[in-house]
Amino acid sequence: MKIGIYPGSFDPITKGHLDIIERASRVVDKLVIGVLDNSEKKPMFTADERVQLIKEAVASLDNVNVEAFHGLTVDFAEKHGAKILVRGLRAVTDFEYELQIAQTNHKINPKLDTIFFTTSVEYSYLSSSIVKEIAKYNGDIEPLVPSNVCKAIYDKYK
Ligand code: ADP
Repeated sequence: MKIGIYPGSFDPITKGHLDIIERASRVVDKLVIGVLDNSEKKPMFTADERVQLIKEAVASLDNVNVEAFHGLTVDFAEKHGAKILVRGLRAVTDFEYELQIAQTNHKINPKLDTIFFTTSVEYSYLSSSIVKEIAKYNGDIEPLVPSNVCKAIYDKYK
């Protein structure tokens, strides 16, 4: 059984993340989304809230699970018996950071390989920070995030 993990902040999940999740879920038998519990980064949503939002957004994908984690990504992978780590690449600006992380993880656990999905063009500019910035000034985020996330963000800003 091919098991993959897709770790990230997902603060909050966007349609760009969702696109990667859908595509990755067709490549592996089971995909576990790992929500990094990084409270020191002062996220907009708690790890539990982010997990809940993702669960609702991926409800139709049978082979996708979601859970929070803290600590090393390699340990999260090991816990789930995953040998594939999924990440997304948008612009060249992502590349240097992603390469460094992928090489570090591979060094710590040579059995863990990172597979990159290149962004679909319509989401190449999209990030969680951009979504929060637009919502802060009451802009329309409906095209950018799943509908449950749209509501959750507006509720936060109320
Ligand atoms: P992190 O803090 O770990 O970078 P993010 O939630 O920002 O967490 O991103 C998780 C992963 O999803 C990263 O690999 C990032 O490059 C990828 N990603 C984020 N937005 C998009 C998008 N619009 N298209 C493709 N990949 C994306």
